[in-house]
Amino acid sequence: MPLFKSAGQLMDLGQDQLLRGDFAASRARFQEASKKFSEEGNAPMVQVAVAYSLLAGLGIHTPGPEDYSALAQGLAPLGTQDMKVGPTQVPAAVLAREAQILAESRTLLSAQARSPAEYADLARRYQALSLQYRQLGGQNLLLPDLFHQAPVSPITMAPFMAAMAEEAMGEAVVLEHPQEAAEHNQNARNWWTQANELGKAQEAAARAQLYGRTAKCWFCGREVTGEGVQFVTRPAEMGPWISAGPGAIGSTDPARGVLFACKGCASSIDTVADRFAQLRAKEVQDNLEAQIEQLRRQVHPLA
Ligand SMILES: [Zn+2]
Repeated sequence: MPLFKSAGQLMDLGQDQLLRGDFAASRARFQEASKKFSEEGNAPMVQVAVAYSLLAGLGIHTPGPEDYSALAQGLAPLGTQDMKVGPTQVPAAVLAREAQILAESRTLLSAQARSPAEYADLARRYQALSLQYRQLGGQNLLLPDLFHQAPVSPITMAPFMAAMAEEAMGEAVVLEHPQEAAEHNQNARNWWTQANELGKAQEAAARAQLYGRTAKCWFCGREVTGEGVQFVTRPAEMGPWISAGPGAIGSTDPARGVLFACKGCASSIDTVADRFAQLRAKEVQDNLEAQIEQLRRQVHPLA
């Protein structure tokens, strides 16, 4: 039967199946229609049919960034032309914009930065994305609704992406300027709260506190900022003399039973400690081998 259907009839069928949620069948109809339009030399309708087939494709599997990008590209030539989306009509440009924003969201949320420059680049993209969500207004996005996926609200996503931007900015500067990183994480905390992500807000606040902490190295006396960044803590025996001693302030935290060591001192001590540990391990092993040898001689005196 489908062999005898016209391209227009295939489009209608595809629409019905899209509306009923039979997305795989719907995509197949639109693909057949695009082929027919192509045979008829109807280039504008080929574009429409291709755009619909990409749209229907979003419902088949969980869409990735490449699916949204492909849809945005497929919709671009259609401009303000109306697309039938379920029971309503929406300009192609509106859907294209949504698809582009969803593609960028998926891309950024799975992106991994390794260097400060990469974090700075990620931060810029998150900021731009936050602005785009803000410009969308208050309505939930249409595409996730159409495919019965988790609703995407610009009111939540705008602060969500702003928080991600602040955290990335913090990571970009933390090694050189932990105090600035602390401020970025403080900003992130406020955005997370607005986005109603209270767990993430707490994590950002904790990071802000660590990054903003200043200490004096117990060993060399250098002033350093950022716990876990420029300095680390080391367990140490604390007594009443610690807090009483001159210059002890800022070098220890008796409540936690730790002293502060700048990364330079800490790593140098680690190297020496490692060397001693290796020497001691070798000593133990040599001793053990000598004992085993002695036992062997006792058991087999002639060996
Ligand atoms: Zn030091």
